[in-house]
Amino acid sequence: MEWPTIQECRRYLTKYCIINKFEVRKPKNEGYRIRAYCKAEECPWMTCFRKKPKEFTMKLRKIVLEHTCYADPLEHNCMVDANFIVEELEDQITLHHKTFKPSDIQKQMFYNFHIEVSYWSAWHARANKVLEKLFRDYDGSYRMIPELRKQVLLSNPSSIATYSRDMENGNQFTRLCIALKGSLTGFVTRCRPIVGLDGCFLKRKYGG
Ligand SMILES: [Zn+2]
Repeated sequence: MEWPTIQECRRYLTKYCIINKFEVRKPKNEGYRIRAYCKAEECPWMTCFRKKPKEFTMKLRKIVLEHTCYADPLEHNCMVDANFIVEELEDQITLHHKTFKPSDIQKQMFYNFHIEVSYWSAWHARANKVLEKLFRDYDGSYRMIPELRKQVLLSNPSSIATYSRDMENGNQFTRLCIALKGSLTGFVTRCRPIVGLDGCFLKRKYGG
Protein backbone atom coordinates (compact mmCIF):
# COMPACT_ATOMS: atom_id res chain seq x y z
CA MET A 1 0.00 0.00 0.00
CA GLU A 2 1.16 3.54 -0.78
CA TRP A 3 0.16 7.13 0.10
CA PRO A 4 1.19 10.25 -1.87
CA THR A 5 2.40 12.19 1.22
CA ILE A 6 3.41 11.53 4.82
CA GLN A 7 0.41 13.61 6.01
CA GLU A 8 -2.03 11.38 4.16
CA CYS A 9 -0.27 8.34 5.54
CA ARG A 10 -0.61 9.72 9.11
CA ARG A 11 -4.30 10.44 8.53
CA TYR A 12 -4.87 6.92 7.26
CA LEU A 13 -3.15 5.43 10.31
CA THR A 14 -5.15 7.61 12.73
CA LYS A 15 -8.45 6.66 11.10
CA TYR A 16 -7.49 2.99 11.01
CA CYS A 17 -6.77 3.04 14.76
CA ILE A 18 -9.98 4.90 15.59
CA ILE A 19 -12.15 2.57 13.52
CA ASN A 20 -10.44 -0.49 15.02
CA LYS A 21 -10.62 0.97 18.55
CA PHE A 22 -7.04 1.05 19.72
CA GLU A 23 -4.38 3.70 20.29
CA VAL A 24 -0.76 3.75 19.18
CA ARG A 25 2.44 5.30 20.44
CA LYS A 26 5.03 6.65 18.05
CA PRO A 27 8.53 6.68 19.49
CA LYS A 28 9.79 9.52 17.27
CA ASN A 29 8.41 12.18 14.95
CA GLU A 30 10.46 11.48 11.83
CA GLY A 31 10.13 13.10 8.42
CA TYR A 32 10.92 9.97 6.41
CA ARG A 33 9.17 7.17 8.28
CA ILE A 34 6.34 6.44 10.70
CA ARG A 35 6.70 3.72 13.29
CA ALA A 36 3.71 2.98 15.49
CA TYR A 37 3.12 0.44 18.27
CA CYS A 38 -0.11 -0.51 20.05
CA LYS A 39 -0.24 1.42 23.32
CA ALA A 40 -1.35 -1.59 25.36
CA GLU A 41 1.40 -3.23 27.35
CA GLU A 42 3.03 -6.21 25.63
CA CYS A 43 0.59 -6.10 22.68
CA PRO A 44 2.58 -7.09 19.55
CA TRP A 45 0.64 -4.93 17.01
CA MET A 46 3.02 -2.62 15.17
CA THR A 47 3.50 -1.04 11.79
CA CYS A 48 6.15 0.85 9.84
CA PHE A 49 5.79 3.12 6.81
CA ARG A 50 8.74 4.60 4.98
CA LYS A 51 9.29 7.20 2.27
CA LYS A 52 10.38 5.83 -1.11
CA PRO A 53 13.87 7.01 -2.11
CA LYS A 54 13.81 10.48 -3.76
CA GLU A 55 9.98 10.64 -3.57
CA PHE A 56 7.26 11.90 -1.22
CA THR A 57 5.34 8.64 -1.56
CA MET A 58 5.01 6.61 1.64
CA LYS A 59 5.02 2.85 1.47
CA LEU A 60 3.88 0.28 4.02
CA ARG A 61 7.00 -1.70 4.97
CA LYS A 62 5.86 -3.84 7.85
CA ILE A 63 2.73 -4.61 9.85
CA VAL A 64 2.01 -7.10 12.65
CA LEU A 65 -1.77 -7.41 12.79
CA GLU A 66 -2.10 -9.48 15.95
CA HIS A 67 -3.57 -7.77 19.05
CA THR A 68 -3.52 -9.30 22.52
CA CYS A 69 -5.24 -6.23 24.05
CA TYR A 70 -8.94 -5.38 24.27
CA ALA A 71 -10.86 -2.42 22.83
CA ASP A 72 -11.77 0.31 25.33
CA PRO A 73 -15.39 -0.38 26.35
CA LEU A 74 -15.82 3.30 27.30
CA GLU A 75 -15.38 4.30 23.65
CA HIS A 76 -12.64 6.83 24.29
CA ASN A 77 -9.69 7.26 21.97
CA CYS A 78 -7.11 9.95 22.62
CA MET A 79 -6.23 9.96 18.90
CA VAL A 80 -9.53 11.73 18.21
CA ASP A 81 -8.71 15.43 18.28
CA ALA A 82 -10.03 18.61 16.64
CA ASN A 83 -7.97 17.97 13.49
CA PHE A 84 -9.51 14.55 13.01
CA ILE A 85 -13.01 15.95 13.58
CA VAL A 86 -12.39 18.65 10.95
CA GLU A 87 -11.09 16.10 8.46
CA GLU A 88 -14.25 14.06 8.90
CA LEU A 89 -16.95 16.70 9.32
CA GLU A 90 -15.65 19.94 7.76
CA ASP A 91 -18.15 19.95 4.88
CA GLN A 92 -21.08 19.23 7.19
CA ILE A 93 -20.06 21.89 9.75
CA THR A 94 -19.46 24.46 6.98
CA LEU A 95 -22.79 23.78 5.29
CA HIS A 96 -24.81 23.94 8.54
CA HIS A 97 -22.56 26.32 10.50
CA LYS A 98 -25.49 28.26 11.97
CA THR A 99 -27.20 25.26 13.52
CA PHE A 100 -24.50 22.56 13.82
CA LYS A 101 -23.41 22.89 17.45
CA PRO A 102 -20.60 21.10 19.35
CA SER A 103 -23.19 18.70 20.81
CA ASP A 104 -24.25 17.82 17.23
CA ILE A 105 -20.60 17.15 16.37
CA GLN A 106 -20.37 14.82 19.37
CA LYS A 107 -23.51 12.95 18.21
CA GLN A 108 -22.30 12.73 14.59
CA MET A 109 -18.87 11.39 15.62
CA PHE A 110 -20.55 8.79 17.79
CA TYR A 111 -22.82 7.85 14.89
CA ASN A 112 -19.89 7.61 12.42
CA PHE A 113 -17.23 5.96 14.59
CA HIS A 114 -18.95 4.90 17.83
CA ILE A 115 -16.58 7.04 19.89
CA GLU A 116 -17.05 9.68 22.58
CA VAL A 117 -15.65 13.11 21.66
CA SER A 118 -15.08 15.69 24.38
CA TYR A 119 -17.17 18.86 24.20
CA TRP A 120 -13.96 20.91 24.14
CA SER A 121 -12.59 19.06 21.07
CA ALA A 122 -15.91 19.49 19.28
CA TRP A 123 -16.06 23.20 20.19
CA HIS A 124 -12.42 23.75 19.19
CA ALA A 125 -12.94 22.03 15.82
CA ARG A 126 -16.02 24.11 15.04
CA ALA A 127 -14.99 27.54 16.37
CA ASN A 128 -11.23 27.65 15.90
CA LYS A 129 -10.84 25.55 12.78
CA VAL A 130 -13.97 25.65 10.59
CA LEU A 131 -15.62 28.98 11.51
CA GLU A 132 -12.34 30.91 11.52
CA LYS A 133 -11.61 29.57 8.06
CA LEU A 134 -15.11 30.54 6.94
CA PHE A 135 -15.35 34.03 8.47
CA ARG A 136 -11.69 34.90 9.02
CA ASP A 137 -10.55 35.08 12.63
CA TYR A 138 -12.50 36.61 15.54
CA ASP A 139 -9.75 39.13 16.31
CA GLY A 140 -9.84 40.34 12.70
CA SER A 141 -13.57 40.98 12.88
CA TYR A 142 -13.08 43.33 15.88
CA ARG A 143 -10.61 45.34 13.82
CA MET A 144 -13.40 46.02 11.33
CA ILE A 145 -15.58 47.89 13.86
CA PRO A 146 -14.37 51.41 12.80
CA GLU A 147 -15.35 50.53 9.21
CA LEU A 148 -18.71 49.21 10.39
CA ARG A 149 -19.39 52.52 12.18
CA LYS A 150 -18.39 54.47 9.06
CA GLN A 151 -20.68 52.44 6.80
CA VAL A 152 -23.65 52.74 9.21
CA LEU A 153 -23.29 56.55 9.25
CA LEU A 154 -22.85 56.71 5.48
CA SER A 155 -25.94 54.66 4.73
CA ASN A 156 -28.06 56.09 7.60
CA PRO A 157 -27.17 59.78 8.05
CA SER A 158 -28.00 61.35 11.46
CA SER A 159 -27.89 57.93 13.15
CA ILE A 160 -25.85 57.28 16.28
CA ALA A 161 -22.84 54.97 15.86
CA THR A 162 -20.08 55.06 18.43
CA TYR A 163 -17.59 52.63 19.87
CA SER A 164 -14.98 52.79 22.60
CA ARG A 165 -11.65 51.17 23.33
CA ASP A 166 -9.62 50.71 26.48
CA MET A 167 -6.43 52.60 25.66
CA GLU A 168 -4.67 51.37 28.82
CA ASN A 169 -5.38 47.74 27.98
CA GLY A 170 -3.81 47.34 24.55
CA ASN A 171 -6.51 49.30 22.71
CA GLN A 172 -9.01 46.58 23.54
CA PHE A 173 -12.55 46.98 22.20
CA THR A 174 -15.06 47.67 25.00
CA ARG A 175 -18.38 49.02 23.67
CA LEU A 176 -20.39 49.56 20.50
CA CYS A 177 -23.61 51.59 20.28
CA ILE A 178 -25.72 51.79 17.12
CA ALA A 179 -29.11 53.55 16.94
CA LEU A 180 -30.49 54.07 13.43
CA LYS A 181 -32.08 57.43 12.55
CA GLY A 182 -35.32 55.79 11.42
CA SER A 183 -35.72 53.98 14.76
CA LEU A 184 -34.87 57.13 16.76
CA THR A 185 -37.39 59.28 14.87
CA GLY A 186 -40.06 56.61 15.12
CA PHE A 187 -39.49 56.30 18.85
CA VAL A 188 -39.66 60.07 19.48
CA THR A 189 -42.71 60.77 17.30
CA ARG A 190 -44.79 57.61 17.61
CA CYS A 191 -43.96 55.82 20.85
CA ARG A 192 -44.79 56.45 24.45
CA PRO A 193 -41.73 57.78 26.31
CA ILE A 194 -40.80 54.57 28.10
CA VAL A 195 -37.25 53.23 28.12
CA GLY A 196 -36.72 49.52 28.81
CA LEU A 197 -33.28 47.99 29.33
CA ASP A 198 -32.35 44.41 28.68
CA GLY A 199 -29.08 42.48 28.66
CA CYS A 200 -27.45 40.91 25.65
CA PHE A 201 -24.54 38.56 26.22
CA LEU A 202 -21.76 37.85 23.80
CA LYS A 203 -20.98 34.19 23.26
CA ARG A 204 -18.35 32.18 21.38
CA LYS A 205 -14.63 32.97 21.74
CA TYR A 206 -14.92 36.34 23.48
CA GLY A 207 -17.78 36.37 25.95
CA GLY A 208 -19.07 39.51 27.63
ZN1 LIG B 1 -3.20 -3.94 20.88
